[in-house]
Amino acid sequence: MKRLFLFACAIIAMLAAVAAQPARPRLVVGLMVDQMRWDYLYYYQDRFAADGGFNRLLTEGFSCNNTIIDYVPTVTACGHASVYTGTTPAFHGIAGNNYFIHGKHVSSVQDDEANGVGTSRSVGKRSPRNLLATTIGDELRLATGFASRVYGVALKDRASVLPAGHSANAAFWFSQKDAAFITSDYYMKQLPQWLTEFNRRNTALLKTDLSRSPKGVSMTFAMAEAILINEKLGQTGNTDMLAISISPTDLISHQHGTRSPQTDSAYVQLDADLGRFLSTLDEKVGRGNYLLFLSADHGGTNNYKYSSAHKIPSGSWKCWSDDAKQVNDLLYRRFGVKNIIKDFNEFSLYLNNSAIDSAALDREVVKAEAKRILYAQSAVELVVDLENIHRETVPEPLKQRLIKGYHHERSGELFVLLKPGYYAGDITEDGSNHGTWTTDDAHIPLVFMGWGINHGETSQPVGMTSIAATVCALLHIQMPSVCIGSPILPITEPALNR
Ligand SMILES: [Zn+2]
Repeated sequence: MKRLFLFACAIIAMLAAVAAQPARPRLVVGLMVDQMRWDYLYYYQDRFAADGGFNRLLTEGFSCNNTIIDYVPTVTACGHASVYTGTTPAFHGIAGNNYFIHGKHVSSVQDDEANGVGTSRSVGKRSPRNLLATTIGDELRLATGFASRVYGVALKDRASVLPAGHSANAAFWFSQKDAAFITSDYYMKQLPQWLTEFNRRNTALLKTDLSRSPKGVSMTFAMAEAILINEKLGQTGNTDMLAISISPTDLISHQHGTRSPQTDSAYVQLDADLGRFLSTLDEKVGRGNYLLFLSADHGGTNNYKYSSAHKIPSGSWKCWSDDAKQVNDLLYRRFGVKNIIKDFNEFSLYLNNSAIDSAALDREVVKAEAKRILYAQSAVELVVDLENIHRETVPEPLKQRLIKGYHHERSGELFVLLKPGYYAGDITEDGSNHGTWTTDDAHIPLVFMGWGINHGETSQPVGMTSIAATVCALLHIQMPSVCIGSPILPITEPALNR
C-alpha cells in the first residue's frame, strides 16, 4: 500500500513538473532571404501560389510592414548577425562582410584556428568566434540546459554560421569546389552519416553553380528538410531551432537586377519550395507546433538602367573597384605618402594609420583631404568621420544608424553615403546592389507564423533588432547578451495573454 502511495506521489510530482514547464513551441524556424525587399511580398503576390508559400504566411501569420534595418552598412553578414543577436555591428562586432581585427583583414566568419570538415579548403576555416554577442539559439540552449538543439544551413558560410550562434550543434554551408555541404571542426570531427549520403546522392546537382541559380534555393530547402528529418528537430520533446538562409536570391539580383526575369524566377521557385517546406513542417512537427519567422538581411536598390529609363533618380558609383587607387593617388599628390587608404569596401574607408604615423601626418588633416576628394564625386551625398560623428551635421535617424553600425576596433574611419537611388556598381551593368541606408536597402519583410501567432499586420515602425527580442519573449527565454531591440507588442501581448 505504501509503495502504491509513493508511486502515486511520484506520478503527481511528474505531472506537476510537466505542467510547470513554460509553454514553448516544439521548433523555432528562422528563414532569411538574402536581398529580399519588403515590397516583394506584394510585387510578386499574384505570381505566388494562392495558399502555399508567402501567401500562406500573409494569410495565417502576422506581418510587420514597416521593419527597418537600424544601422549601416546593410550587408549580408551584418544582417544575419543583427537579426539573431538583436543588436548591431557596434556591439556584435560583425562590422561588414569583411573588416579588420587587430589590423588583420578577415572575412566575417573566418577563423584560422578552425579546420574544414568535409573539405580541406579554406572555405572550411569558419566559426562564429568573431561574433561578440549571444544569439537566440544560444539563449534557447542556455534556457534548457543545452537540451534544445540548434542548427544553421545556407549556401553562404556567414548566412549559416552567424544565425546558428556560438553553442549551435552545427552550421552547414556549401563548398562549390567540393560539390558538397560542409562544416568545420568548431562543431564536429566528421560529417554526420546522413550528410555524407546527402552529398553523394546530390553530387550531379551540387557540381552545378548553385550560388546564382533557383536550383540553389531548392537545394537549401532540401538540406533544411534533411536536417529536420535526420536530427528529428521538434520531434523529441525539447524546443529546437533551425536557422535557414536562402542565398542565391542575392547573387541573382546582383547580376541581373531587382527587376529581371531571373530574379522573378528565383522568387517563384522560392515560393513553391517554401510552400512544400511548410507542408513538411506541418507533417513532421505539426501545424501550430512550430514558430516561424521570415525576414531578410537587407533589400536591394534597383538597377540604374531600369530606374533612369523611367525617370527615377538613380546612379552608380564604383570607386572602390580600383582598391581606392584614385583616392590614394590624390592623397599622394598632397602628402607624398603612398597607400594612405588601406582598404575601401562596402562604403567604409580604412586609413593606413601606420603609414600616417610614420610620415608624422596629422590624421585630421588627412581625413579632411580624403573627404574633400570624395565630395568631388557627383554620386556622393555625405562622407562621415565615424570617429568624430558628434562633430558631423548628420540628421537623425541616419546619425543613430551610423553610430550603431560602427565598431571602433573593426570598422573603417570614414563612411560614404551615396545620393538616393545610387548604388555601388557600374552604370553599364544590369545588376542591383545594397549597403546604403535608404529604404531600397533598409526596408525588409518580417512575418511571424505558427505557434502563438494571431493573424494580423501592423504598420508600427519595427527595428531589425526587435526580431530577437520578440522571439525570446515568446519563448520565455533570456534575450541575447547585447540585445537592444524591444519585443513587438502587437505580436507578444496577444500570444502571452491567451
Ligand atoms: Zn549582396
